[in-house]
Amino acid sequence: MFAFRSGNGATTVRHEKGLDAVAGSARAATARDAPNSPPGITIAGVTKRYGRGTASVWALDGVELTVAPGEFVSLVGPSGCGKSTLLRIVAGLDEPSEGYIRIGTPAPDGIGAMPARARMAACGYMPQRDMLLPWRTVVDNAALPLEYRGAPRRAAREEASRLLEGFGVGGFDEAWPAALSGGMRQRVALARTALTGRRALLLDEPFGALDALTRLDLQGWLLQVWGRLGATVLLVTHDLDEALYLSDRVYVMGARPGHIVAALEVALPRPRREDVIATPEFARLKGQLLAAVRAVRAGGREEER
Ligand code: ADP
Repeated sequence: MFAFRSGNGATTVRHEKGLDAVAGSARAATARDAPNSPPGITIAGVTKRYGRGTASVWALDGVELTVAPGEFVSLVGPSGCGKSTLLRIVAGLDEPSEGYIRIGTPAPDGIGAMPARARMAACGYMPQRDMLLPWRTVVDNAALPLEYRGAPRRAAREEASRLLEGFGVGGFDEAWPAALSGGMRQRVALARTALTGRRALLLDEPFGALDALTRLDLQGWLLQVWGRLGATVLLVTHDLDEALYLSDRVYVMGARPGHIVAALEVALPRPRREDVIATPEFARLKGQLLAAVRAVRAGGREEER
């Protein structure tokens, strides 16, 4: 499979098909797994077909992707290539037609893929739309996961209120979602995702609907939140700058059917500030990412030949 090859060779990542790759990543993840570390995510050979026969849609084909414990990984690719489908499957909202998904340390032999319900319990998922309930106030929206877990309403509201303060939406507890700006709504939605208590977070275009400056603010803020929560993140975005600014690694997906074409290590130093996007190293990485995305658009699966 095609892989990036950077000038110094250090950014190259190759993907191998099948369970050998799972076993390899299992050993690597086990070595990294310290007590208290967040779970890693392993996706191997994931295929998805909707429907049957001539009317079927082949959405994903043999997707291979890993996120190490505590890593921030982004997935970019053209619209319709299957990014959201993949995230929904990992989140346990849908099943793959074939393949292996595990959140946590993978079994060395590739046996032990998690059923959808277990995946749902293991990760926090934030869909594209913030899904705030218009009939609940900000604090009652954020407190929902705690209430689902059986916390008394008052205690849940108190904990949610504390987190909202830390997420930069203190003082808006009793506001209705309709009264908030897009950026604030996303902060509340992310606070609610964090309050699931899960440390594998799946974020689908969280800033897609925001203007450029608000987006930049929230990206910086998300990096701080990620550091504070000590979470593993898999983020879907179509914004290459966003992917590079936030991530340790960026996967590029091709379409028809969706498959991984490349992975780029982003060795920019951390902690990152927004001015990193003006550095020569950032420009170099962006050039590589653009080339891969262009190859996908120009040639479908040509890039593998
Ligand atoms: P992306 O997130 O990259 O824009 P999607 O995951 O939304 O792409 O869609 C990938 C492909 O799968 C598209 O062709 C889409 O029409 C198809 N698809 C997604 N969900 C369904 C479904 N429930 N039934 C049939 N086709 C679907």
